[in-house]
Amino acid sequence: MKQNKAIIITIGDELLMGQTIDTNSAWMAKQLQTCGIAVVKRIAVGDDPHMIREALDDAIPNCELVLITGGLGPTADDITKPLLCEYFGGKLVLDETVLQMVSAIFEKRNLPLLERNRAQASVPDTCKVLLNQRGTAPGMQFEKEGTTIIAMPGVPYEMMGIMEDAILPRIKQKNAHTTILHKHIVTIGMGESFLADKIADIENELPSHIKLAYLPHFRIVKLRLTGTSLDAATLEMEMGKFQQQLAERLKEVVIALDDVPLEQLVKNIFLNQKKTLALAESCTGGYIGHTLTQLPGASEYFQGGIICYTNQVKTSVLGIPGTLLETQGPVSEAVALQMAIQVRQLLNSDYGLGITGWLSPSPQQAPSETGTVWIAVSHDVHTIAQKYHFHYDRIRNKEIAVQMALSLLLKHINGKES
Ligand code: AMP
Ligand code: MG
Repeated sequence: MKQNKAIIITIGDELLMGQTIDTNSAWMAKQLQTCGIAVVKRIAVGDDPHMIREALDDAIPNCELVLITGGLGPTADDITKPLLCEYFGGKLVLDETVLQMVSAIFEKRNLPLLERNRAQASVPDTCKVLLNQRGTAPGMQFEKEGTTIIAMPGVPYEMMGIMEDAILPRIKQKNAHTTILHKHIVTIGMGESFLADKIADIENELPSHIKLAYLPHFRIVKLRLTGTSLDAATLEMEMGKFQQQLAERLKEVVIALDDVPLEQLVKNIFLNQKKTLALAESCTGGYIGHTLTQLPGASEYFQGGIICYTNQVKTSVLGIPGTLLETQGPVSEAVALQMAIQVRQLLNSDYGLGITGWLSPSPQQAPSETGTVWIAVSHDVHTIAQKYHFHYDRIRNKEIAVQMALSLLLKHINGKES
């Protein structure tokens, strides 16, 4: 019953107050998934001994692995270590290796080693120490009733280090015979219920060891196939077949068969085709350029961008005629097209993208126009523009505008735009 199941307990008042978002659980769950361990429960508790004990009492009978993060710091509000010491019996003893590592950190930073930092090298004598190469609080591993309980610091970077160094390799080795595979079909522009209707017969045919999940995010819906099997080669073949079948059925809305961000797809295709890109951004204020440059090596295809927020800049830098802006309005097909064409020529690139829109209400536009965005992509042989209407608040409209711009670019370069 406990086999291949894990429960995550995150500790910290800040998590309950909404001050810190619990990203640790999400990351750990994702990692465990790939090793064949299913997270069956996640619980967040405050720095409260009673609640932590209760969470442990509840978790240990139900899984073979309990992962805990938080409350291992050097200050009085961090109570996890003494509590675990008491819970699993035993007493705190100084661990020389940890002390050396902690001292080295302070020496390197030219700081004195305070007593409370020295105390971080004390660990319950009932635990196995998991060394923390990235900070001062070591991980601690306990065993009880056939369950392994591991406590790690709350700082995500340190937790990840301990997971990668000491925990995941061991689980992977133990579960080496089980294969869990994921395959993705990324779609754009069709709601999940319409997708579900379109592929209902294929979905019904999926065997019980292959599951299909719909993951919508704005206008993008990722379909994720997850398969589990002892026979890796057969699973790979089966999943590949279903992925192909789904992609074929949904071909007019599929943009990728990899679960990677759109900016990565854009980068891949531009590098592959040895093309370059320039941006003229109005409403997104440089956000598209920012998104593309989050990836290293963007300079191999991204020439640069112009943030032409006001009409004046659209005219003086891009050369868009004032009369066009006046007659058509700054958020119009004609202006988006001109932005894309002009920036492509100005920056001497293969593709130009122009984007202009009303992201939130303002006196300059009719209320019904709020959320209207025009995006155009220009290439020397073919230029397209598309109108969108978003219904969120300003920030979300901006985010979705970036996603739509990248996907229009992908569609254009793939010759798939509608
Ligand atoms: P602690 O080990 O409780 O002293 O946590 C140190 C810091 O790690 C906290 O101030 C948070 O910023 C961060 N942290 C703690 N728990 C989490 C969590 N579950 N997810 C993300 N960050 C966390
Ligand atoms: Mg804390």
